Amino acid sequence: SEELIYHSEKLSAVGQLAAGIAHEIRNPLTSLKGFLQLIQFNKGGKDEYFEIMNSEFNRIEQILNELLILSKPQTMEKEVTSLVQLLDHTVTLLNTQAIIKNIKIRKEFQINDAEIECAEHQIKQVFVNLIKNAIEATPNGGKITVSITKRDGNAVVIVKDNGCGIPKGKLKRIGEPFFTTKDKGTGLGLMVSYQIIEDHGGKVHVDSEEGVGTTFTVHLPLVQ
Ligand code: ADP
Ligand code: MG
Repeated sequence: SEELIYHSEKLSAVGQLAAGIAHEIRNPLTSLKGFLQLIQFNKGGKDEYFEIMNSEFNRIEQILNELLILSKPQTMEKEVTSLVQLLDHTVTLLNTQAIIKNIKIRKEFQINDAEIECAEHQIKQVFVNLIKNAIEATPNGGKITVSITKRDGNAVVIVKDNGCGIPKGKLKRIGEPFFTTKDKGTGLGLMVSYQIIEDHGGKVHVDSEEGVGTTFTVHLPLVQ
C-alpha cells in the first residue's frame, strides 16, 4: 500500500543520515586514536599532536551540536516571538564575523514587527546559518543584505549576498546532509535549517548565480 512505501522510504532516509553521521564522526575518531597511539609510544611532537587532536574534537562537537538542534522540536515549546527583534539580534551577533572580512551587513527592515510562533533558539539558528554562509561566500569588502517584509499572512525574510554563488549543478545538492564545498564545512547547516523551517510551517527558496551571488528567501506564517 501507499503507506508502506512511504514508511520504507522514510526508513531509508534515516538510514542514509545515520550512515552519513557515522562516517563523519568516524574520521576524526580514527585520527584521534592514531594520535593517542603516537603519544602512548612516545613518538615526540606532542604540542603539535594536541593542536590537531583539539581540532578533531571540535569537529565532532560541531557535528553533534548541529544535529542536536534538530532533536529539540519535541521538547521545546513554541512561543510568540518578534521576528524583527530576533533578526536584529542575529545580525548583531554575526557582525563580529563580518567585520573581520570588512563585510557590511545591511538591515532593510520594512516593518517594525512581525510576530511568529516559534522555538526561538531554532529560528535564530536558521538565520545564523544563512548569514554565516553568506559571510563565508562573500569576498573581503563585500555586502550582505538582510530584509524583512510581510506578504499574504507570512513574514518574508531575505538574506542576499554578492558572493561566489552556487553553480547550477550543485544547486540541487545543497541541503543534502554532509554536502559541503568547504574544507572545514559540515554540510549540515542548510539541512538543519530547512528542517526547522518546515517544522514551523514555513518555506525556503534559494536563487543563485555563479559569480553573481545568492539569495535565500524564508517564509514563516505570522501569528494572526
Ligand atoms: P557548510 O556551510 O558547512 O558547508 P551548509 O549546509 O551551510 O554547510 O551549506 C552547504 C553548501 O551550500 C556550502 O558548502 C556551499 O557550497 C553552499 N552554500 C550555502 N550558502 C551559500 C551562499 N550564500 N553562497 C554560496 N554558496 C552557498
Ligand atoms: Mg553553513
